[in-house]
Amino acid sequence: MTIGSVPVKFRISVDHDQCMVCGRCVENCPYDVFRLENGKIHVNSRKCVACHRCIAMCPRDAISIRERPVDYRSHPVWTTEIREDIYNQARTGKIILAGMGNAKPYPIIFDSLVLDACQVTNPSIDPLREPMELRTYLGKKPSRLEIREKGSEVEVLTPIGPNLQLETPIMVGHMSYGAISLNAQASIARAVSATGTFMGTGEGGLHQSLYPYQDHMIVQVASGRFGVDINYLERGAAIEIKIGQGAKPGIGGHLPGEKVCEDVSCTRMIPVGSDAISPAPHHDIYSIEDLKQLVRSLKEATEWKKPVFVKIAAVHNSAAIAAGIARSAADAVVVDGFRGGTGAAPKAFRDHVGIPIEAAIASVDAKLRSQGIRNEVSLIASGGIRESADVAKVIALGADAVYIGTAALVAMGCRVCGTCYRGLCPWGIATQRPDLVARLDPDIASQNVANLIHAWTLELSELMGAAGINSIESLRGNRDRLRGYLLDESIMKVLDVKPVGA
Ligand code: SF4
Ligand code: SF4
Repeated sequence: MTIGSVPVKFRISVDHDQCMVCGRCVENCPYDVFRLENGKIHVNSRKCVACHRCIAMCPRDAISIRERPVDYRSHPVWTTEIREDIYNQARTGKIILAGMGNAKPYPIIFDSLVLDACQVTNPSIDPLREPMELRTYLGKKPSRLEIREKGSEVEVLTPIGPNLQLETPIMVGHMSYGAISLNAQASIARAVSATGTFMGTGEGGLHQSLYPYQDHMIVQVASGRFGVDINYLERGAAIEIKIGQGAKPGIGGHLPGEKVCEDVSCTRMIPVGSDAISPAPHHDIYSIEDLKQLVRSLKEATEWKKPVFVKIAAVHNSAAIAAGIARSAADAVVVDGFRGGTGAAPKAFRDHVGIPIEAAIASVDAKLRSQGIRNEVSLIASGGIRESADVAKVIALGADAVYIGTAALVAMGCRVCGTCYRGLCPWGIATQRPDLVARLDPDIASQNVANLIHAWTLELSELMGAAGINSIESLRGNRDRLRGYLLDESIMKVLDVKPVGA
């Protein structure tokens, strides 16, 4: 006895009165949902992932997609999702892979935090008329500066380590060549160069066509060491050691073999078609002392000219770990929350492991401050930053800057269908298939990402001005500018914010 057919997730309908049988849906769907037969479009709804490419390309608005037209018999415990996963695993005996970030409906803390604004006695600042400082420096800051005045000149005597200078506290996080296409990486590279900020290479090495943008690249060293050699390290503006990732804390990266084409294999230095699975831990790091050695080795290899960041997934003891990292000679700690995106992660990890970025950043910032080492490292928040207000809120909770990921992909056309791991992204983003990659035009996509960063930066300065703040430094860790709205008291304690009205 088989499990039998299960209800379709998406039902596609074609309005044949509207359809002009141009065949664009057939050409554009990489999942073979459509076929043209006897002068008519036929569909196989079971193959649909709701990427919406067909809808976007249809010149007659003839296509509609309905979600779950026939659902499972309802049950409060054995939900549709739970039963589908069981059927899937009963058939395959495999771990379920998923893309994008955590899809469980956990409450989003950002949406229960509101920002303050000035009225009457504490006037707000008008960013259109007054200067606003959004320039951000990432790296160690001395607690005090020794200077010597020479006439009108001032000489800084305190040695200052390498810092990255950002024109906006918004960067684009690590999405490797392999996980995303070269057109997607090139689009992001051009966008961050145009907006004076930075992007991460991910753990896939740096393709030589992106060398012109190397001054805006943070090169990543992950547990698999894919693509890492001295040439790679020297090209980056900064180096990031990836210990963990918010979408899958405790396990390494996973690039399915379907996405390892010839060019990806050269850049990663791995065989064509092989799954690139990085080990869960770095095999040379089992303590903060080990981490310190790697940080110092990378600094020494690059003549102490580059800041070294360490990225961890947001977990229960992130604060204690970050305090150790701050003492390891690293220049910045990246904390990646459990809503962080991924090209491929076991669903059990993506949806159930880790903690939200809001709580993690607040506790890390508080711990570093309480130990008097906050200036030893900058703090970068990532994982679930969806809009400019999230940027303002997470900086007020203690971050210096943010990485965005999914938002940049959405700006390039991503429909968040969550099937990046299949390598068939119809928008040319999370794929290596040449005909699909060609769909992403870097001229347009780079402009879209640059526009997004620019728009968020403008909104951020407006939000700061309304709160009477004219520099990003003054927003950092300024929790008095936040209030919890219908937030649980225990969470407000972790965030160290007052309730609305207080
Ligand atoms: S793209 Fe639209 S108009 Fe063209 S064949 Fe498909 S359904 Fe018909
Ligand atoms: S990048 Fe492509 S495959 Fe991944 S979620 Fe977005 S549209 Fe879907």
